[in-house]
Amino acid sequence: MAIEITVPKLPPGVDAITLWPFIVYRRGFEHDLPLRCHEHFHWKQALRWGVLPWYLAYLMLKPFYLGSRTPRHPLEVPAYNVQREVAALLAAGQSIDRRLTELGIA
Ligand SMILES: [Zn+2]
Repeated sequence: MAIEITVPKLPPGVDAITLWPFIVYRRGFEHDLPLRCHEHFHWKQALRWGVLPWYLAYLMLKPFYLGSRTPRHPLEVPAYNVQREVAALLAAGQSIDRRLTELGIA
């Protein structure tokens, strides 16, 4: 299980970050379910890859996907897909229980 913590500040433009085994939220974003799903996806992704290989791959690719290009980072694409899917389900008033269970949140 991820250890979720909330801090008053994160770098500009960052609302949450997965620093395995932690997921760190900027205060005010810790209850944002689509964002939590995004971060839990990363958490599981890192577990699957092995935490160090995941971070190395992430950081090696990062210079090519700075700023507004972040959502196109190959390791971000599926996380943003999950986030959008959960946001759409919530907006439609549908259950996200299956998603939460898959991601180990509930
Ligand atoms: Zn991400």
